[in-house]
Amino acid sequence: MRISTPAFVLRRVRWSESSLILTLYSLDFGRASAMVRGALRPNSKFLGRMELFSQDEFQLARREGRELDTATEVSVIAHNQRLRTRCGAFAGASLFTEWLLAVISHGNEPSGPVYRLLEQVFGLLESEAAPWPVVCGGVVRLLKLSGHGFSTDICVACGAEIEGAVRWSHSSGGVVCGKCGETGFPVKSGIISFLYRAGNSSLESLSRVRLWPGGYIQCHSLLKEYAQVHLERRLLLKSEKVMKEILDAGQ
Ligand SMILES: [Zn+2]
Repeated sequence: MRISTPAFVLRRVRWSESSLILTLYSLDFGRASAMVRGALRPNSKFLGRMELFSQDEFQLARREGRELDTATEVSVIAHNQRLRTRCGAFAGASLFTEWLLAVISHGNEPSGPVYRLLEQVFGLLESEAAPWPVVCGGVVRLLKLSGHGFSTDICVACGAEIEGAVRWSHSSGGVVCGKCGETGFPVKSGIISFLYRAGNSSLESLSRVRLWPGGYIQCHSLLKEYAQVHLERRLLLKSEKVMKEILDAGQ
């Protein structure tokens, strides 16, 4: 079966002297893997296409029951060059990609909203928006889309609207009010308001939100711990360390 879909290249692994295996996230079929034979030959028709983090139109040959497709034609939709050449943009795109691959498995549906989210996150990073709020905000939406959303305004224990001091419970799924006692642990209200905004305003407006120095590292750690509880496994996010080292974590 031949299929055609726009997709982002999330990973490129060298398979042989001249072939690559790509991990894609596609509009129509969600996560996919594709073999590209001859991709690395000097005269390859694929040269300069399907670069890491680029958005391309793919034609794939798919066989029933196989997880690995074969790419037959590729044309570029967006090169997203800055995602490969600017430190901050690269670190942000790498970290968000790791999140996406950890949270979304093969066959998760529907793929459209996740694809549009990826398009927004990469688009903002490509236009050199501040990487930390874009990644943290993108992760909040990704968790929601994959069925692991949380509450940031209503107490998960009693249903009351949250006011004043806030606690957070990973296992109960979000914020806990002062009356509900010792459930969870205290979290800075600045992080809760960021998480609330992340679920309720555009990623673009979110990208201009500044937190105190180190604020986004705390925010990201909270999201990571929460996801680990709900996915029931450890997340190995290699790019997290790079993001911490090269970027001011209040921005
Ligand atoms: Zn309560």
